[in-house]
Amino acid sequence: MGKTVLAIVLTVFASAAFAHDVDLTKLPLGDGKLSAAPMVGQIWACRVDPNGGGALVDGPWINKTAGTYDFTKKAVVSGKVMWVPHFVMSLSGESRVFTSNDLPNHPTGTFPISATDEAYKYDRNPNAIREQSVTVTLPANPVAAATPVCAPGAVGILLTGSVLFNALDAPGRDAVAHETQDACQGHPQESGVYHYHSVTICMDDKRLPDGHSALVGYALDGFGIFGRYGEKGVLLSSSDLDACHGHTHMIPWDGKMVMMYHYHATWDFPYTLGCFHGSYDLANVRAISGPPPRRGFGPRGGNGGFGPP
Ligand SMILES: [Zn+2]
Ligand SMILES: [Zn+2]
Repeated sequence: MGKTVLAIVLTVFASAAFAHDVDLTKLPLGDGKLSAAPMVGQIWACRVDPNGGGALVDGPWINKTAGTYDFTKKAVVSGKVMWVPHFVMSLSGESRVFTSNDLPNHPTGTFPISATDEAYKYDRNPNAIREQSVTVTLPANPVAAATPVCAPGAVGILLTGSVLFNALDAPGRDAVAHETQDACQGHPQESGVYHYHSVTICMDDKRLPDGHSALVGYALDGFGIFGRYGEKGVLLSSSDLDACHGHTHMIPWDGKMVMMYHYHATWDFPYTLGCFHGSYDLANVRAISGPPPRRGFGPRGGNGGFGPP
């Protein structure tokens, strides 16, 4: 079922992608695109654990020689599990406060991945999705840090109610290419936190009147994350954006038009943030990373939450 849904969505995107020169069958593999300083198209990660978990074997959708992967051929964790999300955002003075149970407003695949699932061949994610209790307080009107800030494992929250991790799996490879995810590009890590490593295609990439994408979520420095289209409706890639994966122009912000920095999603690595433009509070990273894993959980499986620096 998950596969059918993905196929339909991709047909729509594939036709749009053709016109804008993004080939979902040959997306650049982000492995090794780790930097020790802000760099366009890479992630400046605070920490990588070379012994961390991840997908068991490379799926046939990965072409190491060409350095690409075929997003349309990737194994998808099947299932259509419905959840009762709780996601509230409120503005209070200079603060934007979120409370969420991290359960998404769209169906997910069945986790742990069943041994009969095609995806099990590549990634035996043994974790179940578990309700969380997340409270995050961000600056309502964020400002740039003096210099960019390295990206921790957990970087934001999407308007689906679920959290966003950066694009790396625990050993520092391209998580979107390697980790087996459901039809909405999400999966749980060791403590059951359902998360994405890119902006889910299960959220409409809505457009503002000028063609620019609408807001899809918030980064932990308080800046907004918008969809894949920039000004005049141009489909963006990482090379159009700065090292942290954003740019500055007029955007709608809490009902007003303001000149403001914001991040964008793209189809290509690092998909969302490459670093932070503003500073972030470590308490928020911890809040969305979930509790420390319980002993006895397998070392393998879609993790991605290599935690705070
Ligand atoms: Zn923009
Ligand atoms: Zn993950």
